[in-house]
Order: sequence, then structure tokens, then C-alpha cells
Amino acid sequence: MSAVNEALIRDVVAEVLGRLGGPATPPKPSPAAAPPAPAAPAVSAPAGRNGKHHFGVFSDADSACAAAQDAFEQLSEAGVAGRSRVTEIIKTLCEANAAEWGRIELEETKIGRLDHKIEKLKGQRGIPGVEFLHPYGLSGDHGITLEEYAPFGVIGAVTPSTHSIPTAACNIISMVAAGNAVVFNAHPSAAKCAVTAIRVFNEAIRRELGIENLACIIEQPTLESFNALTKNEHVKVLCVTGGPGVVKAAMASGKRAICAGPGNPPVLVDGTSCLDNAAKCTVFGAAYDNNLLCIGEKEVFVLEPFFDKFMAALEKHGCFRLNAAQVERLTKEVFTFPPGQGAGCGHAVLNRNFVGKDPEVLARVAGVNIPPGTQMLIAETDADHLFVLEEQMMPFLPIVRVKSVQEGIAAAKKAERGYKHSAIIHSHDVSHMTAMGKALETTIFIKNGSCLAGLGSGGEGYPNFCIATTTGEGICNPRTFTRVRRCVMVDKLRIF
Ligand code: NAD
Repeated sequence: MSAVNEALIRDVVAEVLGRLGGPATPPKPSPAAAPPAPAAPAVSAPAGRNGKHHFGVFSDADSACAAAQDAFEQLSEAGVAGRSRVTEIIKTLCEANAAEWGRIELEETKIGRLDHKIEKLKGQRGIPGVEFLHPYGLSGDHGITLEEYAPFGVIGAVTPSTHSIPTAACNIISMVAAGNAVVFNAHPSAAKCAVTAIRVFNEAIRRELGIENLACIIEQPTLESFNALTKNEHVKVLCVTGGPGVVKAAMASGKRAICAGPGNPPVLVDGTSCLDNAAKCTVFGAAYDNNLLCIGEKEVFVLEPFFDKFMAALEKHGCFRLNAAQVERLTKEVFTFPPGQGAGCGHAVLNRNFVGKDPEVLARVAGVNIPPGTQMLIAETDADHLFVLEEQMMPFLPIVRVKSVQEGIAAAKKAERGYKHSAIIHSHDVSHMTAMGKALETTIFIKNGSCLAGLGSGGEGYPNFCIATTTGEGICNPRTFTRVRRCVMVDKLRIF
């Protein structure tokens, strides 16, 4: 039976039951309803305001926000068990559809790598849920007080082209775990795949909980729909994941904005730790999804005496080294220069046609053939090279020779550009680690691992594809999407 027919039949059954005096609203799920149950009994939500089921997909922001507000109210009725059930549905569907959704996202965006797109969807399993929300209790002579993490209501969210479905999925998990509904304005070049996933999420949520439109999306996102989202009365908070433009727009909107902004993560290699491990970790992180990760290593500073050995280790781990002429050719293609200015000009703009492309594509531009399976291109550059200072998001890693740790830290700080996003050091010297940590003040600072260790892959901690760097909330989790409310009982209920 097709999904449409199934839904249609459920609606008819629900309507007949309603006429016979059956339950008008879906039953509240029991708190024990945690494990996935794909063949759950049909629970039918009423169709939308115009009698049509949207399954979260809307042509305009205002209709999406109104539907999300309805869904938010229904979610409140469904309790913590309902929220928990939704997060489980999202995780299960991401796992089950990882191969297909990875494929359609790559097909639509044409950036990144299929194996990593699939992994990013499977990785949704680790995103924290309702268990993350512990109320803060106080007890004293004047009674007891509880500070609770309460939902905002409807959140307006913007997702990047670099991880469209993964960001939408982890946003839904974090936001719904905290009791919210969400409306997405996805990146126009990655919206179709997000719409597909949102529809599937909503079909399953409606089937199992009777709630529709908990996660909504504008089918054809535009700057106008973004503006409408920011102005809608139901939208209480914005959550944007993207580059400087969208962060600026969200912060200027007048609404509170949680901003997961750009990064340009530097690496410092001081030679006191294992150089082979440093190279292996750097290749793993920087080549991941063709360097689309905002946490991905984007430039490396190596102390002079260890430079050659480190370059050889990078080559051993699958990198191909370009010479100066090849770097020059690549730079001229992947950056757009104002008339009359060459490489090294500070006003050059990244040519987005090369973002997230395979190493072979960049190698062709550089004028060289590379062996199959090459993970990434590397080359020695100076510290002021465009590839060092710009967040290039492609599998070419500039490696810079520095004379001292102090010089390396200063260069890393300049390259990080005050984004306060992520930084990495390979070192066994705690004073070097401390100095770099203090100087760069990044949200994530990794010692002796790949950037992915900062999101729980190879390091301790939970993952998320939304790292609120600009506004300081850090790696998003359900608590990020809550407001703290205090409940005070005066002089009573303290039991001793
Ligand atoms: P982008 O800034 O081009 O687009 C991001 C989103 O913002 C898209 O949905 C886009 O349509 C929208 N947008 C862009 N400019 C806008 C404006 N002026 N008004 C309204 N909406 C606007 O970024 P991208 O190329 O899709 O993603 C890569 C960027 O995102 C990188 O800078 C990367 O570091 C950053 N990023 C950050 C995180 C994080 O957690 N901090 C995660 C992923 C990506």
C-alpha cells in the first residue's frame, strides 16, 4: 500500500470513528513507548486548516509557522514521552534512509563525498535527546525552588548547503526534545533533499503520534521566505547555521538568534607529539566530506625542524603534494580576483564552484594527475596565502612553516579570524596547549586528535552539526533551545 493511500484510508477511518463518537484527539503515548515501532497503529491527526495534509512542506513561511504553532501545542499535550518518541523516529529514519538520503543530497548539491554523507546521517543516533534536560533544584529554609528548561514554541531555522539533511535532523532532535516545533528555510541548492526528509519525518510522526507539521519546511526557500520567517509572530527564536551573511541577517532581524557561524580551523604541530598521528588525524578531519565540515582542519602551522617529516607523513596518509606553480594555478581558479589583481590579494572571493569538489577536480585545475584514492592535496604556502586566510572548504590544505610556537599561535589566531570556532594542536607540551587555547578562545579546542574528536568521534562528547560559535551557546543540544523558568514553593515541601 502506498503511503498516500495508507494515509487516506486512515483519515477515512478516523472520520468514521469520529462520527460514531470515537476519540476526537489521538491518545497520549505512554511514557514507556521508547523503542521504535515502525508498524504502530494508525493515529490520525485532523488535516490542516484547508483540509490538506502538508506533512510539513509549505509554499510560504506564514502557513508553515501557523501549522508549526498548532503542532507545538499538540506536542505539549504529548508530554516528555511524545518528545522522546519523535526524536527516536528521526534517528531511526536517518539510519534507515542514510544511503538514499546521502545519495540525493550529493546528487542535488554536487559537493562532498557519499560515504561521509551517509555517515553523517547515521551519526544522528548520538545526538542528545530529552535525557539532556535536568532541572536545577534548590532546597532551603524557605522551601524549594525548581528551575526548569521550558520550550520557546516555534523556532525558525536556516540550514547550510554543506550538510542539509544532517543539520535539519539534528536541529529537529534537539529542538523537539526540548518541546519546540521548527520551520526550516534550507539552502536553495540543498532544499529538495531536505523537503524529502521532512515529509518522511512528518508522515512517521503523524502515523505514530497523530501530530503533523512539527518540523516544517519552505518548499522553495528564498531571501523573502527567510525574511517572512524572521517576522512571523509565532517564531520566538531563530537558529541559523551558515556563513557570515546569514549570521549577520539573523542578528539584524530583531529576534533572538542562535548563530552557528563560519570557521577556519587552524592546526599547530609543535613536534613534541607523534608526527605520524598528527598527519593521520589531520588527513582524516580535513578530507572528511571534501573538507566541508566547519570544524575541519583548514590550514596547518608546523615548526620548522619537523616540517619535512610532517609533509612526508601527510603523503604517506594519502595526500598529494603540489608545487608552487600548481598552487598558483589553483589559487587563480578557485578565487575570483578583482580586475588587475593576482593571488595574495586580500579582496579575492572564493569561487563556490570548487567548494566540496573531489581532489581530482582541484588537481586538474592545478594541472596535474593524481593517483586514484588521493584523499587531499597539500602544499607549502606562506602564512598570508588566501588558502590560509579564507574558509575554502575544499580538499586542499596549505601547510605553513613557522620558526616558533609563538609565531605559530599568532599565525593561527590570524587565520581563525576571530570566529572563535575550532582549533587543533598536536603537542605533548601543556604550556603550548594552554597558550594556544588562551590566545584563540575557540568554542572547540582539540589536542592530539582530528577535528571530529571535537564532536564525539574519536573524543569524548556528544555530536551536533550546529555549533553556536558566534552567539556563544556552543555545541547545540536540547538545552540550547529552552528558556529557563523558575517555580518557587515558599516555606513548604522541604521534607526535612
Ligand atoms: P551560506 O552562508 O551560504 O548559507 C547558509 C544558509 O544561509 C543557507 O540556507 C542560505 O540560503 C542562507 N543565507 C545565506 N545568506 C543569507 C542572507 N543574507 N539572508 C538570509 N539567508 C541567507 O553557507 P553554506 O555554504 O551553505 O554553508 C557553509 C558555511 O556554514 C560555512 O561558513 C561553514 O563554516 C558554516 N557552517 C557552520 C556550522 C556551525 O555549526 N558553526 C555548521 C555548518 C556550516
